[in-house]
Amino acid sequence: MTNHNRRRLLLQAPAFLAVPLFLAGCGEAPIDTDEDVDNAARPRQGKSTTVKQGSGQKPVVALTFDDGPHPTLTPKLLEILDDRNIRATFYVVGHKVERHPALVKRIRREGHEIGNHSWSHANLANRSDEMVLSELRRTNEAVQKATGRRPTTMRPPFGAMSPRQSRLVQAKLRMPTVLWSIDSLDYTGSSSATITNRILRRAHNGAIILNHDIHARTIQAMPATIEGLKKRGFRFVTVSKLIG
Ligand SMILES: [Zn+2]
Repeated sequence: MTNHNRRRLLLQAPAFLAVPLFLAGCGEAPIDTDEDVDNAARPRQGKSTTVKQGSGQKPVVALTFDDGPHPTLTPKLLEILDDRNIRATFYVVGHKVERHPALVKRIRREGHEIGNHSWSHANLANRSDEMVLSELRRTNEAVQKATGRRPTTMRPPFGAMSPRQSRLVQAKLRMPTVLWSIDSLDYTGSSSATITNRILRRAHNGAIILNHDIHARTIQAMPATIEGLKKRGFRFVTVSKLIG
């Protein structure tokens, strides 16, 4: 081998070897998945794991109620929903589930969906990955214990979670992040009539409507809200049904 050829081989070899090294190192670091998560459930890079509304093809809406269960208000709401044969979704707080397991069981028994709203209602956006997963796992376990079923979707308190955290939660727990397209602003002290008008004015196909079943005015607003939505031809489904 001439010196020239030897030199050419030395130059070519590193370039050839560098290809797989480059591929292995590109993109962001993959998120390890739990043993109970198959690869099909892993979100593709850049794919959104956050949902704010349904497809909008059908006149359906999802009523959602956060921050409960509340020992006196949630049962009143359940009566209203049951009388009208409506299914809603409750984003419950884990430590309240632990205090009121029978009520959570009743919510589920009456056909509603139970979602995960963290254990302590902390702002998860500035918590470590470990803390975020711990808040959600602990709540999943409490709901599972109370109802026999684990929540399949989650909503971060204050709607606060980064896209990276949402991907982590999807990868680790198979739970999409569910936000909302209509905020009833029922936590601002609005009257029940204002809450109803706010929802009806913005109602649209596939809407996910944010309410809280810890305010008396929210519960008082529901009969007229439901009536108004029905008059406009909307049907009521759970979040899981809405987002398929
Ligand atoms: Zn909340």
